[in-house]
Amino acid sequence: MVKIFWVTCPECKNKFYCHYKDLRHSGEKLHCPYCDNWFTEEEAINIYD
Ligand SMILES: [Zn+2]
Repeated sequence: MVKIFWVTCPECKNKFYCHYKDLRHSGEKLHCPYCDNWFTEEEAINIYD
């Protein structure tokens, strides 16, 4: 099973999930599929591990 985490976009406030291995604590930007925003973990409103 692939581990994921949920994140809340700071722009549109929608929640979506990312693959933990690829993106969590990686410094990579997260991409919101709803509003096409790119943001870092620090900018996310919430992160649910
Ligand atoms: Zn968004």
